[in-house]
Amino acid sequence: MFLSQLPPDVIQPVLEALPMPVFFKDRAGIYRGCNLAFTTLLGLCPADVVGKSVFDLSPPDLAQVYFEADEALMSAGQDQRYESQVQTPSGQRLDVIFYKSVLRDTEGQVSGLVGTILDITERKRMEQQLAEMATRDPLTGLMNRRAILSHLERLHADRRSQRQPLCLLMCDVDHFKSINDRHGHAVGDEVLTQVAQVLRQHLRDGDQVGRIGGEEFLVVLQSTEPEQLAQVGERLRQVVASHPLMSLDTTFSVTLSIGAARSLRADEDWASVVSRADQALYVAKRTGRDRVVMADSEPPRQLLHKDWHKQL
Ligand code: GH3
Ligand code: MG
Ligand code: MG
Repeated sequence: MFLSQLPPDVIQPVLEALPMPVFFKDRAGIYRGCNLAFTTLLGLCPADVVGKSVFDLSPPDLAQVYFEADEALMSAGQDQRYESQVQTPSGQRLDVIFYKSVLRDTEGQVSGLVGTILDITERKRMEQQLAEMATRDPLTGLMNRRAILSHLERLHADRRSQRQPLCLLMCDVDHFKSINDRHGHAVGDEVLTQVAQVLRQHLRDGDQVGRIGGEEFLVVLQSTEPEQLAQVGERLRQVVASHPLMSLDTTFSVTLSIGAARSLRADEDWASVVSRADQALYVAKRTGRDRVVMADSEPPRQLLHKDWHKQL
């Protein structure tokens, strides 16, 4: 049996029994009815709802969203689904999906709308948590490898269209293995976390750092100037070298070797720039560590030991 075939005194109990909030409004957007789940969600009594508009019942910013959606729906005369929020009596805002459909009179004219609300707060929270897990390095809280390479790829596309170069620093902690060997992996973890913090704290707005591997960090600079690249690299080298790191009542100091590279032509691939920074880092290691080495001005004829594209 269709609801329309039910007598009105049966329809209301059916609506009341529905666990999902239901409301209906007339063509002017005035509430004409709702069920218990709706009044419970918004902390209202039914008498507070009927005859009111969204502006009477909801905070102005949300009311404006509902009002515009209602107008759009009733003008188009169809169904509607959109994500928004509702405010509960405690002031908490829930993420919700509104599903609404127009109501028509016997002549087929739009006479109002009926809507229902699905609470997706928990789903949104889990989605955010998953997105966070997919992009954060759990140990240091920095961007993980995938996130920093994606950032680099996006910035490169931007820079390329503006014919501006890309500036990178590949940083590797010197003799890190000996910290693990002497003090244990947990202390090594603590030291890595603190190096990550120091790097993050000393970057300028717009510069980004990610953990690209075990004790290796990639810094992607906002700046496009070669002098700045060398300066930022040198500043990071100095702050890390002079920053005491603490773990288990022991003070450590570590140094960084840094390879710096800047794209040479507008069409140089980002992976080639990373590869040149990597080669410069290798030179920094070979020539004594605790130093910044600028990449050769010639691009490599082939990517040497890593295919960065495949590692995205
Ligand atoms: P170099 O100056 O040549 O870079 O020497 P190194 O000892 O830093 O480099 P090597 O590549 O020989 O060793 C890196 C070490 O980093 C080995 C590995 O166990 C350690 N490592 C990698 N990831 C982690 C981690 O998440 N936590 C800890 N504690 N150690 C890690
Ligand atoms: Mg190392
Ligand atoms: Mg390394």
